[in-house]
Amino acid sequence: MSPFEQLVTAVPDFPRPGVLFRDVSPLLADAEGFARCIDALAEPWQGHGVQAVCGIESRGFIFGAALALKLGAGFVPIRKAGKLPPPVLGTDYQLEYGSDRLEVGSKALCAGERTLIIDDVLATGGTLAAARELVAQLGGELIGAAVVIELAALHGRDRWLGGTPLHALLRY
Ligand code: 5GP
Repeated sequence: MSPFEQLVTAVPDFPRPGVLFRDVSPLLADAEGFARCIDALAEPWQGHGVQAVCGIESRGFIFGAALALKLGAGFVPIRKAGKLPPPVLGTDYQLEYGSDRLEVGSKALCAGERTLIIDDVLATGGTLAAARELVAQLGGELIGAAVVIELAALHGRDRWLGGTPLHALLRY
């Protein structure tokens, strides 16, 4: 068993009946577990010259900020619609029911900046794909993506196109 697995709890029927929610709060609350998690997230990207870490609201901010410090990179927040001050770039993406929108500051990355995307969970893959679209709009050079948890049964990895690596610490 991965050392992180016992620090992630499974909550049935949240946020909707039938959904098994993976809660990373105990992992964040465990000083050693959190530190080792950030070390493990950073490990594949050491020496790749990552200049910017884009974290997706909201748990992607927590892992992303710590990862950016570890990698000696800046941190860029990708947020839900209406949270960032203008000017912003945005992209709409499909959810299971309906759609959502992610936004990023329109000058948040320099052209060619070597960029890593991070989120806590990969489920259907729509969120990571939307973040990748924003990095492309900003002219960043995408190095890859990292997630703490991949919900493999939802096949989100199939939507991670373009050939850059996608690393997951835990797979369910
Ligand atoms: P996707 O777009 O891949 O379907 O969903 C990924 C997004 O939904 C992530 O931003 C993630 O925070 C959230 N998410 C989906 N399922 C879970 C879950 O079981 N646990 C947590 N912590 N977040 C989830």
